[in-house]
Amino acid sequence: MRYVSTRGRAEPRDFAGVLLAGLAEDGGLFVPEVWPQLASADWRALRGLPYPVLAARLLCRFVGAAIAPETIAAICAESYAGFGHPAVVPLVQLDTNLFVQELFHGPTLAFKDMAMSVLGRLFEHVLEARGERVTIVGATSGDTGSAAIEAFAGRARVDLVILHPHGRTSEVQRRQMTTVTAPNVLNLAVDGSFDDCQDLVKALFADAALRAELHLAAVNSINWARIAAQVPYYAAAALALGAPEREVAFAVPTGNFGNVLAAWTARRMGLPVARLVVGSNRNDILARFLDANDMSVRPVEPSLSPSMDIQVSSNFERLLFELLDRDPAATAAAMGTFRQTGKMPVPEAAWHRARAVLHGFRLDDEGTITEIARLHRACGYLADPHTAVGIAAARALPAGHGVPTVAMATAHPAKFPDAMERATGTRPALPPSLADLFARTERFTPVANNVGAIREAIQILARRNTP
Ligand SMILES: *Cc1c(COP(=O)(O)O)cnc(C)c1O
Repeated sequence: MRYVSTRGRAEPRDFAGVLLAGLAEDGGLFVPEVWPQLASADWRALRGLPYPVLAARLLCRFVGAAIAPETIAAICAESYAGFGHPAVVPLVQLDTNLFVQELFHGPTLAFKDMAMSVLGRLFEHVLEARGERVTIVGATSGDTGSAAIEAFAGRARVDLVILHPHGRTSEVQRRQMTTVTAPNVLNLAVDGSFDDCQDLVKALFADAALRAELHLAAVNSINWARIAAQVPYYAAAALALGAPEREVAFAVPTGNFGNVLAAWTARRMGLPVARLVVGSNRNDILARFLDANDMSVRPVEPSLSPSMDIQVSSNFERLLFELLDRDPAATAAAMGTFRQTGKMPVPEAAWHRARAVLHGFRLDDEGTITEIARLHRACGYLADPHTAVGIAAARALPAGHGVPTVAMATAHPAKFPDAMERATGTRPALPPSLADLFARTERFTPVANNVGAIREAIQILARRNTP
């Protein structure tokens, strides 16, 4: 199993290689050289398996010979053992042909745990086998940072540095990061915005000397292993609803396009997925693209679903590569134009190919509150603001098409108590595992919005922890 860059100028690698590399050297994203294919009988053989077993079987299709299947099975079993629901990713029915799949039963209550918990163990295994150490550096507006910290805290051979914008994440999100006291975790609270944090991370990665000295690695959603670890739950939902004999549709609340790309990947592997609905909040660049081939960047506006407040969805490049018939030069040219002009030129034929599967949907804050209130009244279901966008997106599919539609529930409602209170009148309680979150001691290092200060903080951590 080999992986190639969407921009065609990086050395192909195996699964372990792309896990450690993250972004390719040519600025592109790694994708499988050939998509794994499952026949109907293969899908049927996966029906009714416990989720960790199903996850391991599908993940092995992407890992190839890089890691032994028994190791992958053990990693998946351990990753999901601590989840707060025995089904790991339970399906809940809300209406005729309308379901949600809950992806928020992991330790930080957002769907990022689904992949990150696996990544923590994959890194540890691969680094042990190679006798290497890495320093993972990432920026977060909230959910990714806490999931990464939970997954990597205390792991051998990894230091983890997470930059968050000081005072600009929710209190639950900040405390989930800053109350972890493992010595290999460094929380940097940057005097700036999330965009500043992302720019600082890019500057660190652009510093070749530092990159080599600290073996910098990334676990943001461009890391292929995260996409691979998100494919299995689409299969689990589809199989439970009658696949491969019956088609299903998925509606996905979308930010960086990682989750919906995993759904697209499952379809590409042969899962019978009729439609994919891409849900957006007021930051609706993907909906504008799918409606009118208008992929033009506008300023990011804050919304009730902050994990979707994104204009440049980094994983879109992987879909673009497919839409352009896997032409790396054309992909690199389109991405270059997008970066320079803020507008992505997508040829008409490629756009039609996208629309044959993907459907765009947008919901503003008022519509989100209305949807949360309506679900609560109709069936007592508490959907967080991200999930509510997904459910409304599922309803936007033409009525009566008879295909069961599954909306992805990406966060626990207790992560967004203010919006929930506004819509339903009550604040959902945190699950028992996090009930004492507000009593725990926080630890973080405030830093200036300055790459020199951050480089120094990271070097101090690495020197302290390197044997
Ligand atoms: C990250 C996140 C999303 C967006 O997922 P992408 O893979 O970035 O599209 C949606 N909802 C929640 C709660 C998230 O944490």
